[in-house]
Amino acid sequence: MKIFKDRKNLQNEILNTKGISFVPTMGGLHKGHISLIKKSKKTKLKTLVSIFVNPKQFNEKKDFISYPRNQKKDLKILKNLKVDYLYLPSIKDIYSFKPKNKVFLDKFSKQLCGKYRKGHFPGVLNVVNRFLDIIKPKKLFMGKKDFQQLYLVKKHIIKRKINTKIVECETIREKNGVACSSRNYRLNLKHKKVASKIFHFLKKIKYKFNFINPNLLKKEIIKLGANKIDYIEFYNIRSFKRSKKLDKNNRIFIAYFLNNVRLIDNV
Ligand code: AMP
Repeated sequence: MKIFKDRKNLQNEILNTKGISFVPTMGGLHKGHISLIKKSKKTKLKTLVSIFVNPKQFNEKKDFISYPRNQKKDLKILKNLKVDYLYLPSIKDIYSFKPKNKVFLDKFSKQLCGKYRKGHFPGVLNVVNRFLDIIKPKKLFMGKKDFQQLYLVKKHIIKRKINTKIVECETIREKNGVACSSRNYRLNLKHKKVASKIFHFLKKIKYKFNFINPNLLKKEIIKLGANKIDYIEFYNIRSFKRSKKLDKNNRIFIAYFLNNVRLIDNV
């Protein structure tokens, strides 16, 4: 695995390849990231993973500072997976040039997480636009756990006519049902049990009811042990409009807190 900290050196190297399959991450690697990387490795392209905790997408400085980082463990995982390239840029390397494309921010960025984390999606799209400019990947692997992020990146790529294909990957879960997340490293055993109960509760609701008032769900989830809920809403994943039904295309989207850790999921 070749490691690059400087975009120019990285570009010199990857210009000579047949094409790049790109897996952007913020590190704190877990089974979710690993599944994306394994899928990427199955393409005929070279796999490039980035680890960059992007300060611009954190609406709270405290959250940025406490975001789980474990570079030693991450490097070991990536080497074992035989990743071709790792890009570990500094903030300066990412933000000291002008990308060719302007960010396109679809109006869906104002809903769900966008309503509660001001500046989050502009920050995400800013960094993704820069990565796409530097790497020009043929394929980009992203997870459905961050459904809204995936949708917004897709819209940006289409609108700016960028020649990158997004590969949408299913959410990987722990045995207890909780979606794998770097933020889970900040949960204790008690929190993990609550998160598991919340997931199983939502799954039951989803398959038992065609509709239920989300406000009723809020009360139940607080009773299960969540400290605070930012939102719990139903959305149609084709139209990306709020929905009143629950079925395969209409999912429950949730963001809630356990202790001070903010978790998101869609079921
Ligand atoms: P992050 O490091 O949290 O920014 O995530 C990097 C990529 O991994 C994003 O495309 C996420 O959607 C994806 N990802 C994170 N958690 C999971 C998961 N549990 N299952 C599948 N993909 C995931």
